[in-house]
Amino acid sequence: MNILVINCGSSSLKYQFIDMKDESVLAKGLVERIGIEGSVLKHERTGMDKETIKQSIPDHNVALKLVIDALMNEKYGAIKDLSEINAVGHRVVHGGEAFACSVVIDEKVKKSLEDCIDLAPLHNPPNLVGINACEKILPNVPMVAVFDTAFHQTMPASSYLYALPYEYYTKHKIRRYGFHGTSHLYVSRRAAEILGKKPEDLNIITCHLGNGASITAVEKGKSIDTSMGFTPLEGLIMGTRTGDMDPAIVTFLMEKEKLSAKDVDSIMNKKSGVLGLSGVSSDFRDIEQEAEKGNERAQIALDCFHNRVKKYIGAYMAELGHVDAIVFTAGLGENSAESREEICKGMEFLGIELDTEENKVRGKEKIVSKESSKIKIMVIPTNEELVIARDTLALIK
Ligand code: ADP
Repeated sequence: MNILVINCGSSSLKYQFIDMKDESVLAKGLVERIGIEGSVLKHERTGMDKETIKQSIPDHNVALKLVIDALMNEKYGAIKDLSEINAVGHRVVHGGEAFACSVVIDEKVKKSLEDCIDLAPLHNPPNLVGINACEKILPNVPMVAVFDTAFHQTMPASSYLYALPYEYYTKHKIRRYGFHGTSHLYVSRRAAEILGKKPEDLNIITCHLGNGASITAVEKGKSIDTSMGFTPLEGLIMGTRTGDMDPAIVTFLMEKEKLSAKDVDSIMNKKSGVLGLSGVSSDFRDIEQEAEKGNERAQIALDCFHNRVKKYIGAYMAELGHVDAIVFTAGLGENSAESREEICKGMEFLGIELDTEENKVRGKEKIVSKESSKIKIMVIPTNEELVIARDTLALIK
């Protein structure tokens, strides 16, 4: 059983082709700059060199057709016939309150996704475009939608409601949804496996620290609180996003700088975070390098970022009451020993004791806390594609 996992952005299409017999990735790749000059497909058959195919790719239909051609290519493909694609799993960003788990895509589901467009205007439309393109090119192949928001649908009202007039929740669905759900789900389940326990027997705090960053309190296998909210802007400081701030700043800035709502939205999403603070880059590697050279603003950006993560860990410990493990994942969480050290520093009194030697690890599963640490600290590379493939397989069976 082979599953094609698709993650469609507005101008990109990421894919993995997975053989579910042993969950091995047969091929993967990325189409970039769809509809823009300089579009390109980068394809990699596992164990072979990367292929770069440059050509005009005006829309997602053409992009997907190219991906299928690459998968069937004699030299670097993985299959001979379309019939070897047994199902497609789509990453969908926003499932609103309609979806608490993955679903087989039919017309009704597509309608519900359209209804969620208001909630995720940047993400859901390209996701839908990807679904429609697949329907055209792979008719009769079953498709499943896996939602970033689904894992967090177990949050209680005390976590997901904003203290706005209640009618804005009922009228406009303004509430906290949370994102990165497949990642938080994957690493919390994997942590339980590594610890030889059932997810129901553990409380875990999962820190997904990448360009986008979020942190989740997982109680007995269920998300009970998470740092991203109505949109992925809330919570931790990110590459270019503010994370939490006083909402009064929005109207203040609009008045002082004569900005429109759209302008402020763009500033908060694209020009803030560690980029805005450091003035260096949104990439943590660049900022770490600059900070090492003595760039004060780069150091301040890192300090602010670490402090915010620490605050959330403290808050979620209070919410959970008892914590068995803290997991670090995603680009920075998996790779930056320095960040993990800074975040955990000073929390020994809470039973969080990092082993600085064990912590010298990049991108590998490892327990990095001291033997004496009450709370296990773990590094677990995330694998959202595998969650999507597994859910797809489970639903089409
Ligand atoms: P996203 O999927 O949200 O784009 P990723 O999970 O790929 O993000 O994470 C990207 C971030 O991880 C970048 O800011 C990058 O600098 C950071 N990162 C990756 N490797 C390292 C590393 N070795 N040291 C520090 N930061 C790293």
